[in-house]
Amino acid sequence: MSEVKSMYVHIPFCKSICSYCDFTKVFYSFLYEEKYLDSLENEIVNDNPNKCDTIYIGGGTPSVLSLNGLERLLSFLSKYLEKEYEFTIEVNPETIDEEKVKLFAKYGVNRVSIGVESFSEEMLMFLSRKHKYEDIKRCVDLLNKYNIINYSFDFIYGIKGLKISHIKNDFKYIDILKPKHLSFYSLILEDNTCLKAQKYVEEDEEVVVDQYNYIFKELEKRGFNQYEVSNYSLEGYKSKHNLVYWNAKEYYGFGLGASGYVNGIRYINTRNLTKYLHKENIRIKEELSYQDKKEEYIMLKLRLNEGFLLDEYQNLFNENLLDTKKEEIKSLIERNLIKIEENRVTPTYQGMLLLDTVVVKLI
Ligand code: SF4
Repeated sequence: MSEVKSMYVHIPFCKSICSYCDFTKVFYSFLYEEKYLDSLENEIVNDNPNKCDTIYIGGGTPSVLSLNGLERLLSFLSKYLEKEYEFTIEVNPETIDEEKVKLFAKYGVNRVSIGVESFSEEMLMFLSRKHKYEDIKRCVDLLNKYNIINYSFDFIYGIKGLKISHIKNDFKYIDILKPKHLSFYSLILEDNTCLKAQKYVEEDEEVVVDQYNYIFKELEKRGFNQYEVSNYSLEGYKSKHNLVYWNAKEYYGFGLGASGYVNGIRYINTRNLTKYLHKENIRIKEELSYQDKKEEYIMLKLRLNEGFLLDEYQNLFNENLLDTKKEEIKSLIERNLIKIEENRVTPTYQGMLLLDTVVVKLI
């Protein structure tokens, strides 16, 4: 039996579609909910996964499920939890009410990731998000009431029209609502999104870098440590589940369009809802070559502040990186993009900003 101890579960339903989104999602319909949960449970039971240290329900918008649907999902998944665990659910603030939070508490959800994105109404409108500050406040108050204190906010920056004054305002609300973990993602213009169709022009790189620098300083002042290029936490509140991905460890993935990594094989489920509901050939498998694994290891590990150990790399890939990439490493150190101390390669602050350049040199 494999040693996989983490599980991702995808709930693809959304009430409305955000302008920048290229995730696997479909409009929520009560009619599909039950069928979807049938297929999902069937997929998981057939796979017979281990009990897990981390389970992460993402989407889509998992919190859009009806109370019955949510209870069915949480009670089913809670059977796969180890004694000590992290059980996360993603929520959109406007879909949360007290009954749902009660279910979170009842089935052991102990981490909630809230799609805040911005506290500016103007930015929320641009992103086609449907919530307001009051929804976020109500959601946070309910989580605190039921003692779920480990909640995280997601933000998007680098949006055309976003000003430092908007971000300053975001921090004002962060101070009031006291999340333990924050993710700041710069807006990426993806294909097949409304923004792409509207011929959105991306913000200048210099402006985006200024915003990154501002965010970093504000987070530092408040005791949030960057542990991954886009993720910051107070002491003791790193996302254990997401660290599994970034440490190139294996995990199960269940649900429409979900991907997993088990026994050295990556797989991705169909993004076609009809196929998924009919339980037809839903998985495409891809065995990773030695070169793929090496590249993935460097790409993922360098997202982390703690980088990676040269010894570990040598053990895994039977290669001394200091020999095979001697010139590249020298140049990256001279440009202050990486550091090597006590056998550990870490990206510098500058390196985090130019991560693609660093990775390309080392793979
Ligand atoms: S960003 Fe999230 S809520 Fe918005 S459409 Fe995409 S999956 Fe749904």
